[in-house]
Amino acid sequence: MKQPLSPDYDAIVAGSGPGGASVARTLAQRGWRVLILEQGSGAPLKGTLGQMARFGAVPGRSAFVHRDASLLVQGVNVGGSSSLNFATASDPPAAMFAAHGIDLVPEVRTLRAELPIGPLPDHLLGPMASRIMAGARSLGLEWHKLDKMIRPQICRSGCWRCAYGCPFGAKWSARDFVEQACAAGATLLSEATVERALLEDGKAIGVVYRHQGERHSARASTVVLAGGGIGSPRLLHASGLGPRESAFFSDPVVAVMGTVDGLDGGAEVPMAAGMRLDVQGISLADLTLPRPMYQGFTAQVGRLDRLSAHARTLSIMVKIRDDIGGSVGPRWADKTLTPADRNKLDEGVGLARQVLAACGASHVFQSWHFAAHPGGSVRIGAGVDHNLRAAADGLYVCDASVIPQAWGLPPTLTLLALGQRLGTHLADSA
Ligand SMILES: Cc1cc2nc3c(=O)[nH]c(=O)nc-3n(C[C@H](O)[C@H](O)[C@H](O)COP(=O)(O)OP(=O)(O)OC[C@H]3O[C@@H](n4cnc5c(N)ncnc54)[C@H](O)[C@@H]3O)c2cc1C
Repeated sequence: MKQPLSPDYDAIVAGSGPGGASVARTLAQRGWRVLILEQGSGAPLKGTLGQMARFGAVPGRSAFVHRDASLLVQGVNVGGSSSLNFATASDPPAAMFAAHGIDLVPEVRTLRAELPIGPLPDHLLGPMASRIMAGARSLGLEWHKLDKMIRPQICRSGCWRCAYGCPFGAKWSARDFVEQACAAGATLLSEATVERALLEDGKAIGVVYRHQGERHSARASTVVLAGGGIGSPRLLHASGLGPRESAFFSDPVVAVMGTVDGLDGGAEVPMAAGMRLDVQGISLADLTLPRPMYQGFTAQVGRLDRLSAHARTLSIMVKIRDDIGGSVGPRWADKTLTPADRNKLDEGVGLARQVLAACGASHVFQSWHFAAHPGGSVRIGAGVDHNLRAAADGLYVCDASVIPQAWGLPPTLTLLALGQRLGTHLADSA
């Protein structure tokens, strides 16, 4: 085994999505020597279909086809899924965390003051989002602009690149925190895959990782696993501390689409506005995606007649809070819908169809379901304690896997808050 870049760090963070980037930044800014190991690429975001596919559509790595043929995707690159996400921000549900003695209000307050979080100004609300909002409001629905993690002064009206990874720096991503961590002295090693945590006498002492085809070790008395809802349960198992299979949630989504003659759109920020039925666990929002992604949806369900209607087709996202189930295993992630999940999706799709009808849409059809929020696989209160500590001293998990219950919300802001809270806890107790 080769020697690491540097033999000793105070903390090693495995994964650079929102959870990992946040804890790494906090620790580095508190003077800790931090090594961030990320299995994906750190190439600058280009906002192209090809790069998006390399980061988020590689079967078995970033895209998982379930037994029912539905798809689960995650971003594998510096920044994790946040590089490709739709930048919607939502506060953590206070009661869910209070049940575990966790109060994220101070962290969220700090993050909201620091980050570009807020509704888009009117000039950035695309024609499709506006049309859908008008249709929904005509039905009396409480459809409103959603908070976005976007810098409006940089964001360009008529641009469609968010979903491919904003190359202009308009969309916030965890890359921003990784950069700030490095500016504060952290070391980032991309294309470095952590294989397992190293443990000695019940304590974390470092990690084993692969980089450029060779195996290395790095040592630190604090190790934070932040590989995301799929990566972290795998790492815990590989370290001899977690089960081989872990149940999870994924917040499945269906896109419901319909054509409005005379409309000319298709290039705008997705999820600019929407509504949530909290009790039912159903969210709806506009979901205008770039043409190739739209065409993927149409082809998937055999609606070849709609292939060329992208600029005239409104698309509404229906997302549900699914039951925790299925399994993440060493080489798979598989989850099918329960009857309760199906009922929720049906209810949301029914509502989306009403909204599209109110918009004057015809040729309405829906995609197969897909998901992009794997989490809950190492839950607080089960896989980790309320300080995110796993079953070994010095070993922590900080990403969507620790979310304690079925979810159904945009997770990013919550994960940033959890990372900041963990970093502060570690630095204060050192
Ligand atoms: C298309 C899409 C749209 C989305 N829209 C929104 C939205 O609007 N709002 C919102 O809040 N959320 C959204 N999300 C979800 C959100 O981005 C994720 O929930 C969030 O990024 C999860 O953060 P995380 O810290 O758990 O890890 P991730 O973002 O999953 O990052 C984990 C990182 O760890 C790395 N890793 C894993 N295993 C290892 C290993 N063994 N060694 C080294 N590195 C490893 C991975 O490569 C990855 O980069 C969206 C996601 C997608 C894909």
